[in-house]
Amino acid sequence: MTTTPVDANPMLARVNSALARRNQEGLWRSRNIREQAAGPEVTIQGRRLLCFDSNDYLGLASHSMVREAMHRGIDQYGVGAGSADLIRGHTSAHARLEERVAQFLGHERALLFSSGYQANLGILSALLQRGDVVVQDRLNHASLIDGARLSGARLRRYRHLDINHAARHLSKAPGARLLVTDGVFSMDGDRAPLQELAAICRTQDAWLVVDDAHGFGVIGDQGRGSCSAAGLHSNEVQIHMVTLGKALGCYGACVAGERDLIEYLVQFSRNYIYTTALPPALAVAAIAALEIVIDEPQRRERLHALAQRLHSGLESLGLATASEAAAIQPLVVGDSEKANRLSSQLYEEGILVAAVRPPTVPQGEARLRLTLTADHTAAQVDHLLSLLDHHARF
Ligand SMILES: *Cc1c(COP(=O)(O)O)cnc(C)c1O
Repeated sequence: MTTTPVDANPMLARVNSALARRNQEGLWRSRNIREQAAGPEVTIQGRRLLCFDSNDYLGLASHSMVREAMHRGIDQYGVGAGSADLIRGHTSAHARLEERVAQFLGHERALLFSSGYQANLGILSALLQRGDVVVQDRLNHASLIDGARLSGARLRRYRHLDINHAARHLSKAPGARLLVTDGVFSMDGDRAPLQELAAICRTQDAWLVVDDAHGFGVIGDQGRGSCSAAGLHSNEVQIHMVTLGKALGCYGACVAGERDLIEYLVQFSRNYIYTTALPPALAVAAIAALEIVIDEPQRRERLHALAQRLHSGLESLGLATASEAAAIQPLVVGDSEKANRLSSQLYEEGILVAAVRPPTVPQGEARLRLTLTADHTAAQVDHLLSLLDHHARF
């Protein structure tokens, strides 16, 4: 019997060389194993850590009322949905959540997807065809880029927040077009110029798609998100995608829009049709979380006060790279190794912050992505600032 050299198989050679490269470039990704709820403090490998890395902005992922709602949901519906929505997976909990989100966002109808990633693929691949043009902000979330690729449409990316560049791309492409943007950008925390983008869409007869994963629950009237914060009427946003896994502390996503658009997605969106429905108990939990978003504005107020404190603290240290005092504030350091080093130094000091590196962010823009939750205290933010003062001096 002959033995094969380890890299003789072409696929194996590809795998091994990609892994070696990832490691050499300081881009290796790894996971921490956590054994309790996702609060501001966790224990990892026996060490108590203060975390600034979660998207659970309002602290709802471990809120007692959300937990209880999930238990109730399990008691009523069991755990798994058992099949796709269009088979027998759709329950009264799913229907109630869709209605509630649609009403909250001021749209006619909403449709639950199993995640934001699936929703974005599902929207873009169902609506766009080969030969269409889809115009997107350069810093849009990966799922929006992947949705465009899957659709076969031509993807035109404009410079971050550059409305003139966006308008130029759109004007060069007649036909059915989508202009797609994050509401709040996931790695920078800044906001899209939604008024201006909506105006471009109006004059050029294109549809506006807003992915509000990070705005929903956090900004706008009662937490309605980026579109509300920008003063847009719901009829100026043809497709409004919100996720349930960030400020709502649950899982899943909802796409809101006009009745016929939503029906079109039910009929044609493969990412909706060919997958198991969301666990019904999650829908029950998300309804409870949405009620807390509405009933407890003090959570948003606390979050915004902490964001102000972090931003002005970073400014006085000369470290502010975020343009806004938002729940997400990047500390851009540039080099990936430098970001890794800073993240490990903070880890040694008991602070968990993610070093975000390419390809998640552009080359040369590696950063610490600092995020806050309403459950942080002012003292914890000050503690982070004092450690950054000590370690982030390059
Ligand atoms: C997190 C995120 C998504 C994906 O949502 P999931 O529910 O986590 O799959 C989509 N868009 C943006 C901007 C996000 O930040």
